[in-house]
Amino acid sequence: MQSRLFNPCETGWIDPVESAWLGVIAFRRMKGKGELVELRRNPLTDQWIIYLDQAAIPNREPEGRTRSGRKSNRTKADACPFCDSPDHPDRVDIMVVRDETCIYVREGTKVPEWDVKVIAAPAPVLRIEDGLSRRGRGFYDIMEAPGAHELIIMTPEHGKPVWELSDIQIGRVLAGLFERMTDLLKDRRLGHQFAYHVTDRDSLSWTDHAVLNLVAVPFVPEKLKTELRYARQWYTSKERCLFCDICQTEKENQARGKPHGIIEETENFTAFVPFFAEYAFEIWILPFEHHADFLSMSKDQRADLAGILRLILHRLFQTLGPLSLTVTLMNQPNRMWIQNRETWPELDAGWHWSIRIQPETEIVNEELRIFNRAAGSRVNPVLPETAADHLRSAAS
Ligand SMILES: [Zn+2]
Ligand SMILES: [Zn+2]
Repeated sequence: MQSRLFNPCETGWIDPVESAWLGVIAFRRMKGKGELVELRRNPLTDQWIIYLDQAAIPNREPEGRTRSGRKSNRTKADACPFCDSPDHPDRVDIMVVRDETCIYVREGTKVPEWDVKVIAAPAPVLRIEDGLSRRGRGFYDIMEAPGAHELIIMTPEHGKPVWELSDIQIGRVLAGLFERMTDLLKDRRLGHQFAYHVTDRDSLSWTDHAVLNLVAVPFVPEKLKTELRYARQWYTSKERCLFCDICQTEKENQARGKPHGIIEETENFTAFVPFFAEYAFEIWILPFEHHADFLSMSKDQRADLAGILRLILHRLFQTLGPLSLTVTLMNQPNRMWIQNRETWPELDAGWHWSIRIQPETEIVNEELRIFNRAAGSRVNPVLPETAADHLRSAAS
C-alpha cells in the first residue's frame, strides 16, 4: 500500500488549480481580446480571482484545432501569429534575443532576426497600462488590475516541443526571461512575477511554437503566500531554510543508500522528485546554494541551469513519451511590493527559488482526476522514489 505523503510547503491536500491559474486557464480558452473586468477577493480563502468579460470567452474550438483536439498542420509561416508576418499588424513585439543578446524592438521598425522573441500577449489577462484602484463593494474587496502578460516565443521553429530544444536555445530563453523580469521588477505596483510553460500533448500548443508565459500580478498568489508562510514558520523555529533542508535530506538519503528522489546534479543545481510530489513524475530543480531570488544567478549558472533543464525534460520524454506538462518558476515576491505590506526581514534567508515540472500523464486516470477535483485533494499513483528510479535510468 502506498503511504500518504505530506507536503511541508502546503497547508494540506490542495486543489492544483490556484487562484492565479484561474485567469490563465480562462486566457488559454479565449480566442479574441478578453476584457479584464476586475479582481475580487474571496473572503473565505484570501484568493484574488481574475474576472474577464464573459463575451470574450466564446464557445468555439480554439483556432487551428480540430474537434478531436489534434492540431492542424501548419505549413506556412505566414499564417503564424508570432512569426514576422504582415497578416498580424496588431501584434506588439517587445524584444528579441539573438544569441544571448537582448535587443528591444522600437515601434515602427523592422523586427531583427531572432532566436527568441518576446511579444505582448494578444489577449492578456492583465495590462500594464491599467491603474491600481482598490475599493470595497459591500464588505467585498475589489481592485482594478495593472499587470503584465508577455509571451516569450522559445524558438522560431514550428511544432518543436520544449524537450527538443538545445541547451543553447534554453539559455537564450533564460536570457530573455531575465531581461524582462528585471525590467518588470521596477514596477512597485506588481507583487509577483511568475513564468510558466505549458505543453498540451494533444495540440502541442495552439501556436505551434513553444511559448513561455511571463505574468506579473498586483498581488502575491495564494499558493506562493502559503509556501512563504510555512517557509517562514520553519525558518523562525529552526533558523534554517526549509528548501535547503529538503535538499540536504535527499543528499543524506542518497549517501546512505536509502530511497531518494535525486535524478541529476550539476555544479550548481539539483533535480529531484520531491518526497511530497503532488503529480506523478513531478520534478523540482533548485540551486544547491541558498538563493531567494532567481535573478541573483550569474551567467555561468544560467548556462548550467539551461543544461539541467534540457536534460530533465528530455529524460521525461524518454520515460513517458510525448506528454502534457507545466513548467513553473517559483520565485520570491517583489521585494519593493512586499516591504510595504508585510515585514519579513529574513525573506532572503528563508525562501529559496525553484523550478517545478508537473506532468499530466495517463498514469493518473480519469477516476483519480475526478477524485482530485472533487475532494480538493491529491492522489499520486506513483511513489516519488519509484518515479526517480525510472528517470535516473532513462537515457538523456
Ligand atoms: Zn511562427
Ligand atoms: Zn535555501
